[in-house]
Amino acid sequence: MKAEKKPVALLDLSFDELSSLFQSWGEPAYRAKQVWARLYQGLAASFDEMSELPKSLRQRLAQETILGQLTSRIEQRSSDKQTRKVLFALPDGAQVEAVLMSYERRRTTCISTQAGCGMGCSFCATGQGGLQRNLTSGEIVEQVLYFAHELKAGSQKSEVRSQKRGRQSPTSDPRPPISELTNIVLMGMGEPFANYDPVMAAVRRLNDSSGFNFGARRMTVSTVGLVPGIKKLAVENIQINLAVSLHAATDDLRSKLVPINKQYPLSTLLPAVREYITQTHRRVSFEWALIEGVNDTPEQARALAALLKGMLCHVNLIPLNPTSDYPGAASTRERIAAFRSVLESAGIANTLRLRRGIDIQAGCGQLRQRARDK
Ligand code: SAH
Ligand code: SF4
Repeated sequence: MKAEKKPVALLDLSFDELSSLFQSWGEPAYRAKQVWARLYQGLAASFDEMSELPKSLRQRLAQETILGQLTSRIEQRSSDKQTRKVLFALPDGAQVEAVLMSYERRRTTCISTQAGCGMGCSFCATGQGGLQRNLTSGEIVEQVLYFAHELKAGSQKSEVRSQKRGRQSPTSDPRPPISELTNIVLMGMGEPFANYDPVMAAVRRLNDSSGFNFGARRMTVSTVGLVPGIKKLAVENIQINLAVSLHAATDDLRSKLVPINKQYPLSTLLPAVREYITQTHRRVSFEWALIEGVNDTPEQARALAALLKGMLCHVNLIPLNPTSDYPGAASTRERIAAFRSVLESAGIANTLRLRRGIDIQAGCGQLRQRARDK
């Protein structure tokens, strides 16, 4: 019996790989360009939409390739409707989460790079569940296309509605069109640098100017502090933003919260970040989940200020999002204010980030955890 050939996942292919596939099928070179544009500019959801392709080619594509692999399982909107979270299932049963957050002037999607995560950070819902597997570049890209497609469909609907009401298009509205994603953050499930090559392939694919054409400066990759990944990114020659999840400024505390710190302690991590800044001239962000009585003390704030002194950086403070397997709580307002005042008097730029979508478990890995707990 002839073994069934596995269908090719189109979103896993670079443009060159797509071109060689069509070449091997004896198709003219321009077909790859047409399909690439349909995938990443037209956001096609089916081959039938690719009406410029001959029917025979559409049939072959439908037989031998697949367009998308993600099926949305649970979809939730926060009570203020500004945050939307989706739990996707993959054909092998792996699950990943992605979130879309709408602000006044921004539409940010937060996507996953692995199903689960093997880094075991104690306070993180994803870490508490362990690693299922790495995602492919196509599975990473598809999460973005899902929301982009949805935003586009939504804006077409509202256009039709306002045309029906005979409205002028609101040219004075300073907000970006609702159809536009403005930021992509790789801060969902998983450690991006533990899946480095597919993650960078996804970033480059989204950035491709003949495709999705999403500015690298509007993408952010967040790492738990895998030093080899930071070193590699420094020489990629791409203007993506780097965020480093620090959470503690002393090795004994950091190793408790972020176990990988034992392998890459602060004395290795901070020099690697400084080197990255020297090489790229790019400002780095440090993430800090504020945990009541744990890492929100004046001592930690002072140690943090000392670590970051003179560095081109910014600290993002996020009150802990409580998870079922970690006893810690978010810091109180007073403690946050005291922590920030230490940073401010040391001249360390910092922002307190709002916790979005708490009511829909929009924290990293929390929707999957809740689905499991039920
Ligand atoms: N693995 C990468 C990216 C995914 S986690 C990393 O760790 O950076 C994205 C961010 O969410 C990280 O800064 C992480 O520390 C933070 N995070 C995880 N669980 C959290 C929680 N319960 N409350 C607040 N922040 C959390
Ligand atoms: Fe993994 Fe990041 Fe969660 Fe740590 S915080 S377990 S690295 S996803």
